Amino acid sequence: MTVRVGVIGAGMIGQDHVRRLTTTLPGARITAIADLDAARAQQVADSVPAARALPTGNDVIASDSVDAVVVTSWGPAHEESVLACIAAGKPVFCEKPLAPTPDACLRIVAAEVAHGTRLVQVGFMRRYDSGYRAMKQALTGGRIGAPLLAHCAHRNPSAPGTFTSQMLITDAAVHEMDLFRWLLEEDMLAASVLFPRRSSRSPEGLQDPQILLLETASGVHIDIELFVNCRYGYDIRCELVGETGTLSLAQPADLAVRGEGAYSERVPADWRERFVRAYDTELQEWLNAAGGGEAAGPSSWDGYAAAAICDAALTSLESGHRTPVTMRDRPALFG
Ligand code: NAP
Repeated sequence: MTVRVGVIGAGMIGQDHVRRLTTTLPGARITAIADLDAARAQQVADSVPAARALPTGNDVIASDSVDAVVVTSWGPAHEESVLACIAAGKPVFCEKPLAPTPDACLRIVAAEVAHGTRLVQVGFMRRYDSGYRAMKQALTGGRIGAPLLAHCAHRNPSAPGTFTSQMLITDAAVHEMDLFRWLLEEDMLAASVLFPRRSSRSPEGLQDPQILLLETASGVHIDIELFVNCRYGYDIRCELVGETGTLSLAQPADLAVRGEGAYSERVPADWRERFVRAYDTELQEWLNAAGGGEAAGPSSWDGYAAAAICDAALTSLESGHRTPVTMRDRPALFG
């Protein structure tokens, strides 16, 4: 079955997903594209056979030639599009964040509960990375006993000049927040942000790096180094320590070179290179579910949980204190 897909937001990741749905993955046909910048929407539509540029996201959602929608506009615009997709009964893949605040996420959760079946998948692609999937399999298979703590690093070579200290949490650490809820199958209890010495190579005023400490309900502690101007490449690390062993994310390079007395592996340039296969798997699994008129994978509830953890971390960033994560009770729709 071919799913006819509409795309809202033709920026960086929107174009990347259009490419993957057009040239890499079977089972999709892009039929409509909208962007605030009409010329950009037209340019991207022109690169896809039979796709049309439409004036607004709501036109994409209402189109008879669209079965399912990919939302890749900027975060504050997600809520309106996702609610309109639910109202139209169309499956929707929404890039993270589902919405910028817990309350906005809860409005989406409530709309989906009222609809009665899941329609929303949130773009937490790390759940689809083969390394993290192997880690989860080893953990649930009992290879290291009960998990106790984890050490992570999330390093970007550079961040845009518009990047704020808050965005190290909302744009970067949000991936680890979702990942550990999925990996450990429990919610977060509290968040604390620590401030190491600031890099002189980061833009003035940006608190970079930061250390985020998350505590789960059972007491697992997860420390995450967030460093968005590390200069040398995009470097994602994760080591989970259990009672009888550890699990470490292997470095992702396809090739290691030994020569001239040295050993080297390529460090990915950015998130697109590092997680290219995870994005492919993520969207393929979304297409498979959307073909049946529903959604799988990270849910709107997971989007809400991530927003609630971000909220606590942002409060800690401001106050310097450990901050509890507050969450509502989970509706039955989300298991
Ligand atoms: P971007 O390059 O700025 O692209 C966003 C595009 O959406 C822009 O062309 C923007 O137009 C357009 N837009 C904004 N509001 C819109 C609306 N209401 N209707 C239609 N188009 C609208 O940003 P990006 O880097 O692609 O990021 C997009 C989303 O993906 C963000 O939520 C981001 O957090 C997420 N993301 C996720 C990952 C991941 O690893 N999962 C990676 C990167 C980004 P203008 O430029 O004219 O405003």
